Amino acid sequence: MAAERLVVIGGDAAGMSAASQARRLKGPDELAITAFERGHFTSYSACGIPYWVGGDVEQRDDLIARTPEEHRARGIDLRTRTEVTEIDVAGQRVRTLDRDSGETSWTGFDKLVIATGARPVRPALPGMDAPGVHGVQTLDDGQALLDTLDRAKGRRAVVVGAGYIGVEMAEAMLKHGFEVTVLNRGRQPMATLDPDMGRLVHEAMDGLGITTVNGAAVTAIRTGADGRVSAVETDGASYPADVVVLGIGVEPETTLARAVGLPLGPHGGLLTDLSLRVAGHDNIWAGGDCVEVLDLVAGRTRHIALGTHANKHGQIIGSNVGGGYGTFPGVVGTAVSKVCDLEIARTGLREKDARAVGLRFVTATIESTGRAGYYPGARPMTVKMLAEYRTGRLLGVQIVGRDGAAKRVDTAAVALTARMTVEQITSLDLGYAPPFSPVWDPVLVAARKTVTALREAGTA
Ligand SMILES: Cc1cc2nc3c(=O)[nH]c(=O)nc-3n(C[C@H](O)[C@H](O)[C@H](O)COP(=O)(O)OP(=O)(O)OC[C@H]3O[C@@H](n4cnc5c(N)ncnc54)[C@H](O)[C@@H]3O)c2cc1C
Repeated sequence: MAAERLVVIGGDAAGMSAASQARRLKGPDELAITAFERGHFTSYSACGIPYWVGGDVEQRDDLIARTPEEHRARGIDLRTRTEVTEIDVAGQRVRTLDRDSGETSWTGFDKLVIATGARPVRPALPGMDAPGVHGVQTLDDGQALLDTLDRAKGRRAVVVGAGYIGVEMAEAMLKHGFEVTVLNRGRQPMATLDPDMGRLVHEAMDGLGITTVNGAAVTAIRTGADGRVSAVETDGASYPADVVVLGIGVEPETTLARAVGLPLGPHGGLLTDLSLRVAGHDNIWAGGDCVEVLDLVAGRTRHIALGTHANKHGQIIGSNVGGGYGTFPGVVGTAVSKVCDLEIARTGLREKDARAVGLRFVTATIESTGRAGYYPGARPMTVKMLAEYRTGRLLGVQIVGRDGAAKRVDTAAVALTARMTVEQITSLDLGYAPPFSPVWDPVLVAARKTVTALREAGTA
């Protein structure tokens, strides 16, 4: 009997995790796997780009978990520089374009995995394509930015966007000795936090020597006589720049799916069932940054472009197409990041998310430290907690601080997943010794204060 044919579109986290897991479950006699990647690289960590550009990671290749050759050696027919330009759903085939030779051809499939990721937002503004303006989505982008940094005549860097990629790239530019300005359209950096917590990030960035301008909507990129970027214009000001880094966010890359009417959600991502099968299509699966995920706290889908989800999706899809079984129940919205030594973490809902889905809530914010106050190196940390009015169920946690702040959010992520109340959190048996935490861990202190807030609101 001929082997079943699996085609994978996209050669990074979700796509290659799916292909690799399917190959673990089924050998080439049973399942022929062909994966198409339009770029040069496979299984690379875009998450590591800020640290490679900043010099913490030495080599580009350190970010590559598995090369095309390594995938081929494991029995996956990996075609790089090959773009899928069309999906023929009824005919069960994809059209591909060889980006080097320009040749096109069709490849048939029995099962299809769409793992096309996300594309960076690029507003159509004058000068956006000028030399010296860089995105940081791919390893090629990272290399191009490093080349510009080597050649830059001056030392002024403007980062557009103050989300996690923006702040991580601000750190990278600082490490290259640039004078860094971050232009942020919102009220405070890190819009994934409430503004009161974002303000702490802003203050810390000031302290690190990074200038952050809030409410700054970019209107144009100016170029000099040499054609290279010279300044970034906003409504009210002009910021001189020798290099510009864009971190304005991403949207799901669903061009192929949209063209053939596959189901898309309100955020433009593919809609799947719990097994990550595209809704209404028995032989098509999708995962990673091109899909929407169920937010388990808000009870509706969101688009969250994170490697942590993409890798899990790939593993689950690979199990399902390889004859095993897996489901992806959804997310609670956990994300961590840092700018220099300042750690930033969030999970669950912000105030505006809770309001948007009609939840009434109380909040509490506490100051603590990452170690016992008397232990050398103890640094401050702020924890904000949201709990539902009346039930006391935990809704969200945000943490900004130094020295162990970020990963504390994992306790809250577990509590959210288990739908714990803040009262239950106060009695969690968390580890304590002076080098690791105060005797009351900051998450427990925040939970106690939230219980008090619930009592004061007359609900507990
Ligand atoms: C600078 C940066 C830092 C990040 N940091 C973090 C972090 O700290 N933590 C975290 O969890 N996440 C982080 N992420 C996000 C993470 O990298 C992504 O969520 C993850 O890579 C998504 O994997 P994916 O496989 O869904 O998509 P991608 O990694 O985007 O891969 C999709 C692949 O599909 C290919 N492709 C697309 N269309 C086609 C086509 N038609 N034909 C052929 N090939 C195609 C693309 O070339 C691409 O290689 C970061 C991202 C960036 C850019």
